[in-house]
Amino acid sequence: MDKPIRHILSLSGGKDSAALAIYMRDRIPEMEYIFHDTDKELPETIEYLGRLQAILGKPITKTSRVDNFDHWLTVYGGMLPSNHRRWCTKNLKLKPFEHYVGSDPVINYVALRADEKRTGYISTKPNIQTVYPFREDGLVKADIFRILEESGLGLPQYTTWGRTRSGCFFCFYQQKIEWVRLKETHPDLFEEAKRYEEQSVLHGEEFFWQESESLASLERPERIAEIKAKWEASQARKLTQRKNLTLVETLGGVVNYEEIDEPEGCLICSI
Ligand code: SF4
Repeated sequence: MDKPIRHILSLSGGKDSAALAIYMRDRIPEMEYIFHDTDKELPETIEYLGRLQAILGKPITKTSRVDNFDHWLTVYGGMLPSNHRRWCTKNLKLKPFEHYVGSDPVINYVALRADEKRTGYISTKPNIQTVYPFREDGLVKADIFRILEESGLGLPQYTTWGRTRSGCFFCFYQQKIEWVRLKETHPDLFEEAKRYEEQSVLHGEEFFWQESESLASLERPERIAEIKAKWEASQARKLTQRKNLTLVETLGGVVNYEEIDEPEGCLICSI
């Protein structure tokens, strides 16, 4: 007898996958909600998932990790992960997902929206079929905000201090201003991220989360002031651009505002 198809939705702790979970709650009652916890998440992410779980009315299963970040860091010789060495995603997100799925036939629900061009993780395993309900139903960023508002969940708390993504607190995809905000909001986590850099030197080569600048350098008061000034200038530029885009739009152009301010990076960690 054929195995029944399982329906699985991976949550990242970000707004889009949370909105998709709420969107699918009554459509697919047998949905399995899972979370690949790296053990290096922000406390706000864990809190957000706790509130989401209450709204869904069913558990969010943490997938079992074979080993944690520190184990894999040793395996990779103390080499911190980066955009070009993304062993963290592979071992802490993708492998646990495929392990959880096993050989069962699965429909994997991914929260890519109709107004974005990012590509999602598409498993090469033949038993996994990936679907994009938001994209198929034409839902855009404004719809995601509406779903989150109406459900009472809202946005993750980390957005209140300027972090744009879920995922590990030391994620190398974060912008310099986000590192500054991390230091201001969670100085203990910033110190932990700095310790990882200091310890990586022991292995003969220096690895920094941001490749070109260490956290010890970034946290100097004059450097923080510089980063903040640059960020404020870029925000002012964006505001001007948006005003211009509005004019273009009123003249009949087709402009997609929703591409602006979207966090870059690994989708399974941050969507
Ligand atoms: S959130 Fe960032 S550091 Fe963590 S697993 Fe994903 S890519 Fe790696």
